[in-house]
Amino acid sequence: MVASLRRSRRWRAQYRVSRSGPRHAAHEGFETVPHPGSVTAVDNSLSPHGGRLIERIATAQEIRAKWPRGLRALPHLDVRDQLAYECVNIAYGFFSPLTGFMGHADVDAVVRHMTLASGYIWSMPIVLDLSQAAVDRLGVKPGDALLLTYQQQPLAVLEVEEIYAYDKTFLAQQIYGTTDPAHPGVARTAAYADRFLAGPLTLVNPPRINPPFDRFWLTPRQMRQAFAQRDWAAVAAFQTRNVPHSGHEWMMKGAWLAASADGVLVNAVIGAKKLGDYIDEAIVLAHERLREDGFFRQDVHMTSTLLWDMRYAGPKEAVFHALVRKNLGCTHHMFGRDHAGVGSYYDTYAAHRIFDNLPDLGIKSVLTLEWWYCPKCAGVAYEGLCGHQEHKQDLSGTLIRSIIQGGIEPAPLTLRAEVLQVVRACAATYGFGSPFVTEQYLRERAPVLSMPAMDAP
Ligand SMILES: [Zn+2]
Repeated sequence: MVASLRRSRRWRAQYRVSRSGPRHAAHEGFETVPHPGSVTAVDNSLSPHGGRLIERIATAQEIRAKWPRGLRALPHLDVRDQLAYECVNIAYGFFSPLTGFMGHADVDAVVRHMTLASGYIWSMPIVLDLSQAAVDRLGVKPGDALLLTYQQQPLAVLEVEEIYAYDKTFLAQQIYGTTDPAHPGVARTAAYADRFLAGPLTLVNPPRINPPFDRFWLTPRQMRQAFAQRDWAAVAAFQTRNVPHSGHEWMMKGAWLAASADGVLVNAVIGAKKLGDYIDEAIVLAHERLREDGFFRQDVHMTSTLLWDMRYAGPKEAVFHALVRKNLGCTHHMFGRDHAGVGSYYDTYAAHRIFDNLPDLGIKSVLTLEWWYCPKCAGVAYEGLCGHQEHKQDLSGTLIRSIIQGGIEPAPLTLRAEVLQVVRACAATYGFGSPFVTEQYLRERAPVLSMPAMDAP
């Protein structure tokens, strides 16, 4: 009853910017219970999250002082792309206040209460998994330093504090609201090895971000400086893993207006891809084209990237997205329909409602309904305004795909010709002829990160 009333009110809501004010952490459907006490003992509104930007990058001198026998003398573990990205995010403070991979107390608090053990709101476990056999082979135990390598080069040192197991089924149920192995986040959780290694992490060899992503990747410190240079006090973040169609463009424009923002930050998630996804290069370059061609003024729009494998955790991932963009210095975050969802696991607006029950996160949600193409309005129209719902033409992924694949001509204002042009150019330059991920792209694409060769230490 209450839920349906709330839903119908939201249905009529226009762009709604969240109010602030501490509440207890709880959420329908996930059996998340308030953390006993501590959530009210910390100020979740501090920005960066936790009040201090975490930066853990060691200089050559610090490396020599701390590991005098040299990094190569440490036991070492080559990590997969996802873990390398997370090391980078931890070290530069994208995940502030995390200082390393999570221990049992933090994971358990995230899973049960949607907080860290300290009481700060946090919704996604950030863990380093390893099999017991690998732990034994490496001979690591709490108190040891472990060198994490990537592309055979040193990347980071993990000071191991804890090696533990956690119930992966319970974790999946609590984070994803399901244990269905068809859910990609559940499948990812099930694929984790049986032990988690935790402790603070220090980057020892900052990776290079390769073109064309290099000019779109800024650390939280650099992003905050970029906002200051632009004199942006209010910045509305847009999460994406898509080439922008007109619905996305108008969602950003509407949020900019609703939030009285100075700037819009497109923050494209670059990470693990599935067959048929847009290639990363097309996503960032197509968004950038909207600014280059003046659909956004030069001084109100910026495209950037986040190295992250989507978990498709719907509402919980929405909270995570808000916290990461808050760490970048954003003041607002847009959430449209089915944010970070997959299949039909989450209610269309679950990612809107989850914020109702959270304390002030120091970043306001801009909650939006759908944009579509309306022939009667003769343009892109908003669900909260257009009275011709029976005539609407959804700006669906399927429609946009058929346009891009050349099957149908774009209706005016469905997909900008300039965007289509850049997508086709990216297909030729980066996608082996396709703007969508193919087996060949997965095998042969240029890596997003490259590790500089590092001589001993
Ligand atoms: Zn209309």
